[in-house]
Amino acid sequence: MTTALLAPAATLPRVRSAVTSLPPYVPGRRADSAAIAPLASNESHFAPLPSVLDAVASAATRINRYPDAAAVELRDRIAASVGVSADEVVVGPGSVGVLQQLVTAVCDAGDEVVFGWRSFEAYPLLVTLAGARPVAVALTASEQHDLDAMADAIGPRTRAVLLCTPNNPTGTTIDGAALDRFLARVPRDVLVVIDEAYLEFAAPGRRLDAVARYRRHGNVVLLRTFSKAYGLAGLRVGYAITHPTMAEALRRTGLPFAVNSLAQAAAIASLDAEAELAERVTTLIDERERLAGELHDLGWTLPDSQANFVWLRADEPRREHLLAAFDDADILVRGYAGDGVRITVADRAANDRVLRVLATSGLTR
Ligand SMILES: *Cc1c(COP(=O)(O)O)cnc(C)c1O
Repeated sequence: MTTALLAPAATLPRVRSAVTSLPPYVPGRRADSAAIAPLASNESHFAPLPSVLDAVASAATRINRYPDAAAVELRDRIAASVGVSADEVVVGPGSVGVLQQLVTAVCDAGDEVVFGWRSFEAYPLLVTLAGARPVAVALTASEQHDLDAMADAIGPRTRAVLLCTPNNPTGTTIDGAALDRFLARVPRDVLVVIDEAYLEFAAPGRRLDAVARYRRHGNVVLLRTFSKAYGLAGLRVGYAITHPTMAEALRRTGLPFAVNSLAQAAAIASLDAEAELAERVTTLIDERERLAGELHDLGWTLPDSQANFVWLRADEPRREHLLAAFDDADILVRGYAGDGVRITVADRAANDRVLRVLATSGLTR
């Protein structure tokens, strides 16, 4: 009822200022018909694998029971696949859920978290919600993390630095040698989170060996997800690789039973289907390269994306023009105020629709 909203604010329970300061949640247009191409959320366009659906159906017969709170089998399987021990693996409801656990574990009110910008939109939100202060450091002109400026931004209140590679929304990767120079400059008590949500989509020669950095530096944490290459966005499961002491802290900051039993079963079945999933990733990478090549031929300038999306930088009038053109064509893409448009790579037919819009938008760059 609207009466409650009309009551004088002083009579309502108080909401923390960290919460009221956040931008209001604006739901995007939903792809509620098959004619609409959903290219706004970097999801997998492949249907779930039959073996994964079977595992979910079988787990569904036991939903009267709580899930395994410690996710023992899933953590064992992740540990084996990454080459670490299970006590270095923390699972959570999406890697965003794990990131919230991390920020909650390390930040007191007024502490700072440094990240590149533009990057993943959840970063400033989660930091602000924890009562900490987001410190956004601009990307370079070539859309890369400016690791020197990020190291300079680390101060006495800095508790964590968030690095996203490949970066959402630009698709750019962090170079291994540059990362090593950066890690040498970061104080050992500052957490360095390497968010690898799009790791699988990087060309083999462009993949950062983040696990090696994790082994060398006690403050490095890796974040990974089953939402993108593994195609389980709807089930919410991701994980961190972190040193056992931090892993224990993360388990304390997570909600009990946060990863449900269907998600655990689907993630295990997906690890069993790595080869099939890898084929899908190869197909996706080929399509990304085709799309990027055609865009270059059309006169677009774009960074070399190593993720499952492409990034078109565009100032505000151009961005609005592009968004209107995509909307008219029933293609959902992601616009970022003042910065540009991110388009998820999908199947050939959907990518061709994207190309047609960009060929006729009259807005090459
Ligand atoms: C999609 C994405 C994630 C994964 O989110 P989930 O919560 O695991 O679905 C994490 N980081 C970045 C940068 C992403 O784009």
